[in-house]
Amino acid sequence: MRLSRFHLNTSKETPADAEIVSHQLMLRAGMIRKLAAGLYTWSPLGLRVLRKVEAVVREEMNRAGAIEMLMPSIQPRELWEETGRWQKFGGQLLKIRDRKDAEFCYGPTHEEVITDFARNELRSYRQLPLNFYQIQTKFRDEIRPRFGVMRAREFLMKDAYSFHLDAESLAQTYQAMYDAYSRIFSRLGLKFRAVAADTGAIGGSASHEFHVLADSGEDAIVFSDGSDYAANVEMAEAVAPGPRPAAAEELREVATPTQKTCEDVAALLGLPLQRTLKSVAVVGEQGFVLALVRGDHAVNEIKLAKLTGLVEFRMATEAEIVEHLGCEPGFIGPRQPAKSITVIADRSAAALADFVIGANRAGFHLAGVNWGRDLPEPDLVADIRNAVEGDPSPDGKGTLRMARGIEVGHVFQLGSKYAEALGATVLDAEGKARVMQMGCYGIGVSRIVAAAIEQNFDANGIVWPAPMAPWQVAVCIINPKDDPAVVAAAAQLHEELVAAGHEAVLDDRGLRPGVMFGDIELIGIPHRVVVSPRGLEAGTFEYRGRRDSESRNLTRAEVDAALA
Ligand code: ATP
Ligand code: MG
Ligand code: MG
Ligand code: MG
Repeated sequence: MRLSRFHLNTSKETPADAEIVSHQLMLRAGMIRKLAAGLYTWSPLGLRVLRKVEAVVREEMNRAGAIEMLMPSIQPRELWEETGRWQKFGGQLLKIRDRKDAEFCYGPTHEEVITDFARNELRSYRQLPLNFYQIQTKFRDEIRPRFGVMRAREFLMKDAYSFHLDAESLAQTYQAMYDAYSRIFSRLGLKFRAVAADTGAIGGSASHEFHVLADSGEDAIVFSDGSDYAANVEMAEAVAPGPRPAAAEELREVATPTQKTCEDVAALLGLPLQRTLKSVAVVGEQGFVLALVRGDHAVNEIKLAKLTGLVEFRMATEAEIVEHLGCEPGFIGPRQPAKSITVIADRSAAALADFVIGANRAGFHLAGVNWGRDLPEPDLVADIRNAVEGDPSPDGKGTLRMARGIEVGHVFQLGSKYAEALGATVLDAEGKARVMQMGCYGIGVSRIVAAAIEQNFDANGIVWPAPMAPWQVAVCIINPKDDPAVVAAAAQLHEELVAAGHEAVLDDRGLRPGVMFGDIELIGIPHRVVVSPRGLEAGTFEYRGRRDSESRNLTRAEVDAALA
């Protein structure tokens, strides 16, 4: 590839409306261009990186026995009525009408479509287990699309759906997907952590989120360094600025809670245990704090809300909550682990801190804090981190650590929920119709590109982990006198590198060295080899690795060694 024939369009200016470094650098490198809120064009450069991620995901999915297919983006309303999600999914569902007035949505996820496929295709238990996946564009009408492709409205997802006769088979595939995800993120060179979320009330189900660790992450995850303990408390929409949260000491004082059972709490409160209660909306004067809980945990949440004194609460139906928030009932629905607590607060970060303090004081352990769509004040994060870091964990193993993360993957044991709703059955060995068990497994392919930059950048730009780089090596020509021998030597080196299997690009744009090097660094190419008249004379090439502080003059053989 010759850069003179490629479309590279970089900029020195930091775009004013880009808050986080990945968004800034993707714009500066010219990887993406905004079309409208949450809608981005991937330039030729950006697409090269996106395709790298996609290829690793595809390889590992195939290796894990999943089989690729492709479903339509547009999905008919009727299908979504069958699962009740046409109403329940809320504001994130983009609804459209065709010329005959038939209603459709642009798929935010594909449980309905794949289950419809499965109910028509699968007849016998002998066909199972099966794990279908696709890599496809999704649309979610996010309340606040931001950070470029990190939280876009249209984005690329790998979504997989597995089908099983029984829960045991589901658990096996779930583990295989968990392992495949770990391989994917390791291969991509990312520092990540899987956060377990217990799904208790559903029984035997499990869910894990995979987080790329980065200080700019919207989620804060707390984990034990001695076990995979991580309770899942999500807090989102910390928007309004508020007074400073309580001091670190106060947080520390309440940071060693004990776990209480629902029965304990119910007795303490003198409340009957409301096992059937699905959700609780907690509405404050200025805003909205919402605890969405399921099953046994409903009572806990009422207690939390009362004790924190943050809010008045009232009961609300799921439909009301979805309507009010414009959220997807993914928060409420089967994807939400039953033992987790989701708090969506249209309130200040300070109020959320009080919530955490109050909750812990009441004997609960809020171990994971997902800040959702707004970054909390840095001091607040530090306070909570101080309160949490180094405490023993609740399961008696290891101490607690806190990190901020970007959710790049999510695996879930769905059980029979969708198969039941859509009547997806197979005949078992006795010839009886059995509702299939399902798992679903998502990866934010386009989000990974941004997340990787959050972990890998310096003052000069992006520092791609090699597997994600648009090219592995740039051959740069310095030729102020237009010497044909220099051009020929560079072209030859480029060809040799390509023939040897390197992804090499020739920078033959004729730019001044500073500008050329600036571009190559900004777009994060791991290796740079310079061909210049002086080098040609000395029989050397000037080599510099993207993370190196200085360049070295290498012989041709040494260049090969440096690239190996
Ligand atoms: P989030 O909590 O960030 O909103 P989610 O839990 O709603 O994500 P899932 O339904 O689990 O997302 O979808 C699978 C994956 O798709 C996520 O783990 C994430 O990596 C990616 N993803 C979800 N929403 C977006 C978005 N708006 N832009 C880019 N990627 C996204
Ligand atoms: Mg979401
Ligand atoms: Mg999430
Ligand atoms: Mg998720």
